[in-house]
Amino acid sequence: MIPDNDFITNKDVPGPTKEEIRCLVICKSDVAKNDIVVDVGCGTGGLTVEFAKRAKKVYAIDQNIKAINTTEENLKKHNLEEKVELMHIDALEAFKNIAKIDILMIGGSGGNLTSIIEEGHKKISSNGKIIVTSILVETPPEAIKIMNKLNMKLNVVNVSISKGKLIERGTMMLANNPITIIVGKK
Ligand code: SAH
Repeated sequence: MIPDNDFITNKDVPGPTKEEIRCLVICKSDVAKNDIVVDVGCGTGGLTVEFAKRAKKVYAIDQNIKAINTTEENLKKHNLEEKVELMHIDALEAFKNIAKIDILMIGGSGGNLTSIIEEGHKKISSNGKIIVTSILVETPPEAIKIMNKLNMKLNVVNVSISKGKLIERGTMMLANNPITIIVGKK
């Protein structure tokens, strides 16, 4: 897993997803070398880069051009540009141009989460997965409701990670924001 400070960042772009959360997402995705991954809301490219290291191809989608540019810089830094197609477009528009998806990662939805899950569900393969990572309390109930309606098998975890920082008297634990990860299997 790439350390957080190995990513190029931009003040107008969220991310990267913290290292320990990337670990969990990659682990739960069970990504395989022939998989096609779509990363909706690629942001800084934290998850795009990790998926690109392991999958066959990644479509990295973001409606913010600065996110697309930052993701591109991080792909270059980690020598992964060839595996990734960058798409500066809204998620729902992007789906029209993608034939098959094994793993749909949703890290941002701009208020369109239900439609993105519904449309994504039509595109994922028969044993495909949809993964949502969320910092908001409103997002998990919405994702869970629509995934249940689509008869997906759900796995929901909420994690609060603290990381040790060396101070004079010892190692002080500093808390990160809690994150919810929702995985739906078709
Ligand atoms: N997982 C990323 C961070 C995601 S931040 C990382 O590890 O770096 C969420 C991103 O979702 C933002 O950049 C935002 O522009 C994008 N986004 C939100 N709604 C979107 C939509 N409907 N279509 C495309 N991108 C969207």
